[in-house]
Amino acid sequence: MNSTQESRQGTAVVIGGSMAGLLAARVLSDFYREVLVVEKDDLPNGPELRPGTPQAFHPHRLTPRGLELLERYFPGFNEELLGHGAPSSLNGFNHMSNEHGILVLGPDPDNNASCTRALLEWVIRRRAQAVPGIRFLTKQEVTGLLSSPDGASVTGVLIRERGSEGQRRTLAADLVVETGGRASRLTAWLSELGYEVPAPDRLHLNLGYSTRRYRVPEGMERTWNVIHTSGRASEGTATGVFGPIENGLAESVLYSAGGVYPTTEAESYAQEAGALTSPVLAEAIRDLEPLGPPRAFRVPELVRRRYGHMTSWPAGLLVLGDAFCHFDPIFGQGITVASMEAELLEECLREEREQPRAGFELRALGRMQELIEPAWWLNCTAALRWKGVEYAGAAPLEGVEFAQRYFDQYHRHAMQTQSMELYGLFWAVNTLFAPPGELVRPELVEAVLAGAPETDRTWFDALAQQHGVRPAELPAALLPAFFRSAAAEAPRA
Ligand SMILES: Cc1cc2nc3c(=O)[nH]c(=O)nc-3n(C[C@H](O)[C@H](O)[C@H](O)COP(=O)(O)OP(=O)(O)OC[C@H]3O[C@@H](n4cnc5c(N)ncnc54)[C@H](O)[C@@H]3O)c2cc1C
Repeated sequence: MNSTQESRQGTAVVIGGSMAGLLAARVLSDFYREVLVVEKDDLPNGPELRPGTPQAFHPHRLTPRGLELLERYFPGFNEELLGHGAPSSLNGFNHMSNEHGILVLGPDPDNNASCTRALLEWVIRRRAQAVPGIRFLTKQEVTGLLSSPDGASVTGVLIRERGSEGQRRTLAADLVVETGGRASRLTAWLSELGYEVPAPDRLHLNLGYSTRRYRVPEGMERTWNVIHTSGRASEGTATGVFGPIENGLAESVLYSAGGVYPTTEAESYAQEAGALTSPVLAEAIRDLEPLGPPRAFRVPELVRRRYGHMTSWPAGLLVLGDAFCHFDPIFGQGITVASMEAELLEECLREEREQPRAGFELRALGRMQELIEPAWWLNCTAALRWKGVEYAGAAPLEGVEFAQRYFDQYHRHAMQTQSMELYGLFWAVNTLFAPPGELVRPELVEAVLAGAPETDRTWFDALAQQHGVRPAELPAALLPAFFRSAAAEAPRA
């Protein structure tokens, strides 16, 4: 027995075997002798859709940070995706456009796979299934938590075989990790144990996705790796994204928020694609063979739980992934945040094993809450530009109006100067690869504002005067603290 095996003790139970659950299980397998992944679905033996992850028909992209962490926990997964027919990004070009202009990025130096969510999850799941100590209990639904008589510790879960009426079983665990996704019942379970759970922060977003898949005719040359046409949110013009996936297929999605949903009618899909701010997506799908009609997905609201702000919390329980906070899918942050939370879980477990201290779980949740904060704020700030989107949180979001106007000018500047670096930096921050402070370095703010139209400059000058600062100092005066603390770090990208 080696030293790692010796240090593994006890049993951890993970609720849910989707992306966050698989990542959590992989991390826990370094610390627990046995990791039981309890999943209510009958998990397919191939890259197929399943009921527990209804979002899986829709495009799922990984960000650089998510890729880096998935590769760390499941080495070689990208190569495996390519081996299953996922197209590589290598030497391809990306067509990025918004209301201010067009940027063509490439040739791509990376060999990243682009594929369906079903293929991604299947490859990662097979990797997790091969890890010693991880076991999957499928078609088993967790219906509640087991606890010590005083409710101070969670000691396991109550499970029921799906499809069978009565028959409940208990599973004892030293640690339970909830990764049951957006429909998580954790808040109710905690309330049953007597915990006072604060109301979550909510963004009433009413977003609509309409996704269509296509067969690419044999011999047709690939034009783009990715087409991303950002909508004009304030006027309700949709966003569109297009890209190739495995087995000679491609997918496109139309997205809008605020309750005005993109069409799911086969007849009008191409027409709506043609009304985006750039015609390139409509041109890309024109000669492809549609595989069935478009499919809709709607998200009424984004929810950020405030578990990390609770004053008491049971020992032996943690939560991560969408069950903690879920994001606007158009930014592709969900799996990345889940990977970062898994990395943080690893760090917290290591510290705890080296130096056990009471309150480990609540400290870990507090750190996850901090990790989530920038992604949540960036999501809300962008989404609030759509008419009809409303925020209801414990505290108002800081600096939203300034940020919206500044980021608008930032994009104008990036397009006017054809700066791939600035455009890429915005994506890098949005996908949690670079610190937010990089977007508001004083010299950059000065350059962005110098190129802004007169009316906008007047608005920024008046705001600066109101706060008794220079315009370049507005970010420090108005934006949340993570813009300041992160600014000191070296950029990752
Ligand atoms: C339309 C759409 C597009 C998206 N696009 C992207 C993208 O491009 N990039 C990206 O990174 N993210 C994207 N996301 C987000 C991404 O899908 C999630 O963030 C990611 O799957 C991680 O979620 P999760 O594992 O926490 O939960 P989920 O994926 O929702 O999985 C929860 C799992 O728990 C199981 N479960 C639930 N309750 C129980 C129970 N009581 N007992 C047992 N099992 C249970 C479910 O069956 C399921 O397997 C998108 C989301 C949507 C809605």
